[in-house]
Amino acid sequence: MDLASYADLAIQLVNTGTPEDDRLHDLDALRDLLTIGPHLSGRVGRQDLDAMRELREDLRGIFESVAAGDEADAVERLNSLLIQHPIHPQISGHDGQRWHLHITESGSVPDRYAAGAAMGLAVFISADGLERLAVCEAESCRKVFFDTSSNRSRRHCSDHCAGRTDAAAQPGRSRTDGRGQ
Ligand SMILES: [Zn+2]
Repeated sequence: MDLASYADLAIQLVNTGTPEDDRLHDLDALRDLLTIGPHLSGRVGRQDLDAMRELREDLRGIFESVAAGDEADAVERLNSLLIQHPIHPQISGHDGQRWHLHITESGSVPDRYAAGAAMGLAVFISADGLERLAVCEAESCRKVFFDTSSNRSRRHCSDHCAGRTDAAAQPGRSRTDGRGQ
């Protein structure tokens, strides 16, 4: 994994839980999620599931704080995760790849996941800006994503959610307001 892609660990985990759907409810679901990173192999038990669910809330808190306009709080939450889950870097060269950096080579599976996700977010924020952390505005969705649009104008995680929200807003809105013309 390259350093930037560790940030996706945060997105993937947070989005296992939305107001309508909790997909991280048992160990099979956890093992499914862990297949996204080859460095995340290892035995997992009930305790790990609980730790991952807790981590999910911690990571969501960062995105929700940004969405609420409280950048200081978001940074404090992330810094606290970075302290709790230090990285353990190792240079690795496997499967014919060039030597590259792995940042989470030791600790329990949740620890490795947390360290990777937190470091990935830290790198992403430093390079692209904290304000790119976004939460889908569709009330039933609330998925998180990186808004990489040029003017940071994305309000939804997908076209599906954007369409749903527009449809819901339609009845109360005048058709002559000129929007979208
Ligand atoms: Zn959405």
